[in-house]
Amino acid sequence: MDYQGRVQELNRAFTGGGGQTVRLKKRTTSNLFRYHGRRSPAEKRISLSGFNHVLNVCEESRTLEVEGLATYGQIVAATLPRGLVPTVTPELRHITVGGATVGIGIESSGHRDGFVHDGLVEADVLLADGRVVTCSPDNAYADLFHALPNSYGTLGYILRAVIRLVPAQPYVHIRHQRFHTVREYLAAMEDAVRRGEDDFIEGLVFGRDALYLTRGRFTQRATTAPDDIYRTIYYRSVSRRTTMLLPTDQYLFRFDPDWFWNIPDTGLYRLFRRLAPRRLRSSAFYNRFTGLRAKARESLRIRPDTRTEKLIQDWEVPWTGAEQLLDFALDRVDLAGQPWAAVPIVPQSRATLYPLKQNTLYFNLGSYCLIPRVPGKEADFHTRIMDEECLRLGGIKMLYSSSFFDPATFNRVYNGSAYDALKSKYDPDGVFPTLFEKATGLR
Ligand SMILES: Cc1cc2nc3c(=O)[nH]c(=O)nc-3n(C[C@H](O)[C@H](O)[C@H](O)COP(=O)(O)OP(=O)(O)OC[C@H]3O[C@@H](n4cnc5c(N)ncnc54)[C@H](O)[C@@H]3O)c2cc1C
Repeated sequence: MDYQGRVQELNRAFTGGGGQTVRLKKRTTSNLFRYHGRRSPAEKRISLSGFNHVLNVCEESRTLEVEGLATYGQIVAATLPRGLVPTVTPELRHITVGGATVGIGIESSGHRDGFVHDGLVEADVLLADGRVVTCSPDNAYADLFHALPNSYGTLGYILRAVIRLVPAQPYVHIRHQRFHTVREYLAAMEDAVRRGEDDFIEGLVFGRDALYLTRGRFTQRATTAPDDIYRTIYYRSVSRRTTMLLPTDQYLFRFDPDWFWNIPDTGLYRLFRRLAPRRLRSSAFYNRFTGLRAKARESLRIRPDTRTEKLIQDWEVPWTGAEQLLDFALDRVDLAGQPWAAVPIVPQSRATLYPLKQNTLYFNLGSYCLIPRVPGKEADFHTRIMDEECLRLGGIKMLYSSSFFDPATFNRVYNGSAYDALKSKYDPDGVFPTLFEKATGLR
């Protein structure tokens, strides 16, 4: 069945809400990470899992036509052999193009190409009333197009997208450089952005004295034997090596085999790393495994872990606030030896619901792990203090994880008035949850 056939089949099956809230059901694992489960009993699930095909790679226009639930693993497998990759490729193979567009995908190419959604050319969106409309920056649905980023499926679901591609080469040559002060580190990162010579810029910060800046450039030929991230632990190599050469596919998904730094470097896992087939060395597998383990613990009534808390979040501040945010994070949050991830990012457009300034340098800071809990403090203490500091510095945080904002703050930060108008226009009956409900779990 082709794309149009799938749309017709969906039209027959999708009958709107009928008083229920509708949410997405899919086959691949989700990267939405709420600390507490929040599914409402009145929820109806709509399966879009069939919309997972790569439709067309156009080398001439450097664009890709792809269905919304295709993963970046599939996308890169289709485009890289033709010397092209998306402008921004999220680092986990199973993130989908639809999910990353509505959920603010970022990567180390963000200093040139902004966010995932900045590479969107047009999209077909399933609306709450069952219509499928094509939106682009300058057609009758331009308001929807500009509101897709940070909408998390609350205005409609992307069934098909056309995205921009950029030229790629078979390898990425990487240099890791250590810095010993926050100020020098950020100056070097900013300088790298201004020079514009690198294809990829990012950082891992292990502590005040161990700040690593990683710069990558595409290269056509391997002058030495390439490294292999399935034989090493990538994030550990950053502090142990000064240069690396990775096949481009491995570079793009360098954090996938160890789910960033969430797979412990202990006996059993070492054995797993050595023996498991590569397809199991993926964040999708670990994601499922930890989900099943959590369910098993729950059904066996094993007491929840009260010694750790989740800190899985991303914050963006204007570059002028970068030093303060990083200082605050290093002073106030103990990641127990795990790194902070840092990315310079220059938004290429103004997204209605993620209102950052276009063509302006921002500093993205992320934490993707469990950390020690402060005795006597609530389980989301560190998320709350980081959120507060980020907002104080004029920044914004991504909403793929838990959020604890009150409605007034939420509306101020995420352009609530524009959202309300769009929600009334595209989902007047509330078939999909609101962004506030989805992000905070509150009504
Ligand atoms: C541990 C972790 C690591 C992450 N790492 C990265 C990273 O390396 N790079 C990066 O860019 N981002 C990263 N993210 C953020 C991630 O890009 C977003 O959470 C994104 O929304 C996930 O997309 P998904 O395809 O996994 O969709 P899901 O997690 O299944 O869904 C995310 C949200 O998008 C909605 N949605 C999904 N598909 C569609 C669609 N077709 N149309 C409309 N709405 C849709 C869902 O309803 C849901 O609200 C990470 C998140 C986590 C929790």
